[in-house]
Amino acid sequence: MKTIALIFDFDDTLLPDSTTALLESYGIDSKDFWGRSVKELIRSGYEPALAYLNRILENVGEKKALGLLGNKDLHSFGQSMDSCFYPGLNSLFKELRENTKSISNQIEIEFYILSGGLQDLIEGSPFVQKNFSAVYGCQFGENQDTGAIHQIKRCVTFTEKTRYLFEINKGIRPAQVLENQYIVNKDVPTKNRRVPFKNMIYVGDGLTDIPCFSLVKKMGGIAFGVFNPQEQKSAKRALLEFLNTDRVVSMHAPKYRKTDELGSLLRAATTNVANKIKLESQEAESD
Ligand SMILES: [Mg+2]
Repeated sequence: MKTIALIFDFDDTLLPDSTTALLESYGIDSKDFWGRSVKELIRSGYEPALAYLNRILENVGEKKALGLLGNKDLHSFGQSMDSCFYPGLNSLFKELRENTKSISNQIEIEFYILSGGLQDLIEGSPFVQKNFSAVYGCQFGENQDTGAIHQIKRCVTFTEKTRYLFEINKGIRPAQVLENQYIVNKDVPTKNRRVPFKNMIYVGDGLTDIPCFSLVKKMGGIAFGVFNPQEQKSAKRALLEFLNTDRVVSMHAPKYRKTDELGSLLRAATTNVANKIKLESQEAESD
């Protein structure tokens, strides 16, 4: 079986920022949280993902804004977010599976989420549970007595994101990583890797996606960027950081229906990759 991997960033790529929605649901002023509180730590030298995770933890406690927030609360918040996904994703996944199968029943397509957001929240979504092979994101450890989150368990920074691309590439499952944190460094000959980079399509919107864009593109895969055409800042960043620097094939609004730009390009890109895999297999057989 040959595998195509379609890998998505989460926040602002598949739906509006989920951490912001979580904070606001607890009455926290998200503008102040990101614009002042998190920024303050970043300016003093904190890695951005660690900065926001620490600021979340500071808000956890009996009389604090997030109360005794536990991972199960993140999970149930994620469960409530299914109606927030950008349009067209349900039919996109269904059609991509069918299209791939119709090209060859020896080719399968898998979907992944690679995010600097909160993994327990993301995994709470029934839509995510139904469609994605794995979710990689930041995680908290819980205080055993209170059940409240109190430590940072895993932090997915921007360069760390590429580690998970290599795990997908080498066919390493998250459960195997629990046994051996360094398993991704295992030497696997290119021809034995489960998902070659050229079979990967990456979709993301932010500065944290740049190392993934670059890696996927450099290794022969396809990278699409997402931006919000309604926001001047987002358009400016799309142009300066992503398009001018050739990091992505193109940038689009996050809309995934057949008739939307990104939706139709993802369908075309997947068909293209599947046809190439089929041709390669036929050539290998006739050799
Ligand atoms: Mg994002």
